[in-house]
Amino acid sequence: MDSKMILNNGNLKATPQRIKILSLLGDYGHLTIERIYSELKKDTPTISLSTVYSNIESLSEKNIVKEVPISRQKEAYELNSGAHAHHVCRQCGKITDIEIDSAKLGESVKFREEAKIDSVDIIFNGVCNNCHKRVKK
Ligand SMILES: [Zn+2]
Ligand SMILES: [Zn+2]
Repeated sequence: MDSKMILNNGNLKATPQRIKILSLLGDYGHLTIERIYSELKKDTPTISLSTVYSNIESLSEKNIVKEVPISRQKEAYELNSGAHAHHVCRQCGKITDIEIDSAKLGESVKFREEAKIDSVDIIFNGVCNNCHKRVKK
């Protein structure tokens, strides 16, 4: 689906900024607000950080974009691509998607009390391949 259609489905106006944000996230996977801001500035030097924030906010409200919850790091955003876990490199901060079987995962967890689950965020911490190679040398 192209960005315009995604925005139309979410009843959001397909502004050039929103289209650009979606294509950036499509290209890079996970980006911080600062990074999105500096990329958008290349096309629109007058754009303000608060405009970027409000765009991200409306995209998040429509579940088009999702915040990647990573402690000890600035929040990053990604396209909402369904349930998956993340691997975060403690050396360079690189975020990698990891596929998970959410049905199996749900079965494997035992709750002490009956609880309603809305979402699960799983972070694997470690080093990425690149940093691992660098350390070994
Ligand atoms: Zn790394
Ligand atoms: Zn992800």
